[in-house]
Amino acid sequence: MVEIARRGLMLVLSSPSGAGKTTLSRLLLAAEGEQVAMSVSTTTRAPRPGEVEGKDYHFVDEATFARQVREGAFLEHATVFGKFYGTPAAVVEAALNRGQDVLFDIDWQGTQQLAQKMPKDLVRVFVLPPSTAELERRLRARGQDSPEVVTGRMAKAAEEISHWAEYDYVIVNDDLQETLQKIRAILLAERQKRDRQTGLFEFVRGLLG
Ligand code: ADP
Ligand code: 5GP
Repeated sequence: MVEIARRGLMLVLSSPSGAGKTTLSRLLLAAEGEQVAMSVSTTTRAPRPGEVEGKDYHFVDEATFARQVREGAFLEHATVFGKFYGTPAAVVEAALNRGQDVLFDIDWQGTQQLAQKMPKDLVRVFVLPPSTAELERRLRARGQDSPEVVTGRMAKAAEEISHWAEYDYVIVNDDLQETLQKIRAILLAERQKRDRQTGLFEFVRGLLG
C-alpha cells in the first residue's frame, strides 16, 4: 500500500443539543480507529452520570479555567448554558502534525473561532434533527436532564440551528447508520485534498524518476 504523508484535518460536528453529536462521535471513532482522535474539551460544568474525567471532558473549576485562558492554553473557548467550555490547543496541533484527524464536538461560537484561526484545517459539519418533536423526544429519551433542563435546551435549539449556513456540510440525522456513512464519506473525500497531502511532491518526484 502506498502511503503518502498528510496533515490531519479538523472535523467539527455541531448541532442543537440532542440531535445526535455524541452518539455519532462514538460511532465514528469506533469505525475510524487510530485515524481519528477526539478532542477532549475542558469545562466548568458538572459531570453527568457515567461521564469520565479525561475521556468525556476535563472537568475543572472556574479559577482553573480562567488561568488556562490567560495562559493561552485553548484554541477556542465559549460560554454555553452558562458554563465555560474550551478546546486544549497542544494535543490538537500534535495530532494534526502526525497526520491524525481530530474530531470536535463544539458549538457554533467555537467553530467560528477555529475558522478564524485555522481555516485550512477545518471541515465543518452541521447535524440537524429530522423535526423539533423528534429532537425533544431524543432529549427526553436520553434521560440525563431534568424536564426544566430539557425545556432550556429546546429553547436554545433554534439559536444553534440558526448558524447552519456557516458550515461546509449539513446532514439531517434521521437514520443513524446513514448519517454515519455520510460523515465517513466527507472524511474520505476531504483527506484527498491536495493541500493536505504533504507528501505529494516527494511521491510525484519519485514517479517521474
Ligand atoms: P447530542 O450529543 O447532540 O446532545 P446525543 O448523541 O446525546 O445528542 O443523542 C441524544 C439522544 O438521541 C440519545 O439518546 C441518542 O441515542 C438518540 N439518537 C441519536 N441519533 C439518533 C437517531 N438517528 N435516531 C434515533 N435516536 C437517535
Ligand atoms: P454538553 O454540556 O451537553 O456536553 O455540551 C453543551 C454544548 O457545548 C454542546 O453544543 C457542545 O458542542 C458544546 N461544547 C462542548 N465542548 C466545547 C468546547 O470546547 N468549545 C465550545 N465552543 N463548545 C463546546
